[in-house]
Amino acid sequence: MHILVCVKQVPDTTEVRIDPETNTLDRSSAPAIINPYDSHAVEEAVRIKERFGGKVTVLSMGPPAAVEVIKRCIMLGADEGYLLSDRAFAGSDTLATSYILAKGVEEISRREPIDLIFCGKQAIDGDTAQVGPGIARRMGIPQLTYVQDIEVGDIDEKEITVHRKLDDGYEVVKSKLPCLITVEKEINELRYESLPNLLKAARYQPIILGASDLNADLTQMGLKGSPTSVAKIFAPSQRGQGEILKGSDKNVVDILIQKLSQKVV
Ligand SMILES: Cc1cc2nc3c(=O)[nH]c(=O)nc-3n(C[C@H](O)[C@H](O)[C@H](O)COP(=O)(O)OP(=O)(O)OC[C@H]3O[C@@H](n4cnc5c(N)ncnc54)[C@H](O)[C@@H]3O)c2cc1C
Repeated sequence: MHILVCVKQVPDTTEVRIDPETNTLDRSSAPAIINPYDSHAVEEAVRIKERFGGKVTVLSMGPPAAVEVIKRCIMLGADEGYLLSDRAFAGSDTLATSYILAKGVEEISRREPIDLIFCGKQAIDGDTAQVGPGIARRMGIPQLTYVQDIEVGDIDEKEITVHRKLDDGYEVVKSKLPCLITVEKEINELRYESLPNLLKAARYQPIILGASDLNADLTQMGLKGSPTSVAKIFAPSQRGQGEILKGSDKNVVDILIQKLSQKVV
């Protein structure tokens, strides 16, 4: 079983600051980390590999510094990592990003066929949750999104059953492999890294591919391939303080109704 996991390097949003002058993210204020949902995707892939055998490959698109996110995945138990890095990719929106990643998946698949692709549910910086479904659509394979549990039954049947998280419960869906799964954090608990994996990660150098390695159309990547334009970026205004009405008599209810009616008008 060859499992591929897409992982994104993101700024740690708990540390990130907004520049009050430009209202843009001051990325230099925050350390770069692996997108937290993607750690769970790697963990799930490694667990499946441990049960059924095979290999876990990770794929990231980003600047040369994103090598670190691949090393992090090696610590978590991945076997191999590819970084797609090229100036031609800069300025890509989600449409172009999913195109470039799908081309990367195709290239890796050509070297070693892929049975299953994992992505995180969403990235904590861009937050769109569009890239996973975009890759699946481009590859022409089924997509199973918001997955919180996986049952891999008879692996020879090349079938997988997942529990998809819904607002009011979950939905059980069966799919043929290959397919693409986007995961929720509930899918598993991260384990501690093993010493051999830590040592392997320290020496590990991922395979780096550029635009010319991907047999890709240059007009579909970077700014040229990105129809999205950002009209405005702003920090949301601070919410006003809440008010607590104390008491248990009808009077308090009347005051509440009066206050709410004033808000509605
Ligand atoms: C007009 C425009 C210009 C932009 N220019 C830039 C720019 O110059 N530089 C820049 O860094 N960003 C840029 N972005 C942001 C960039 O498009 C997004 O970061 C990227 O498309 C991923 O979208 P997302 O963060 O919403 O990911 P989501 O769709 O929320 O991510 C879901 C999952 O997809 C996978 N995934 C997402 N991105 C990657 C990746 N890069 N590598 C591997 N797996 C991934 C991960 O598994 C992740 O959990 C731009 C966006 C727009 C709209």
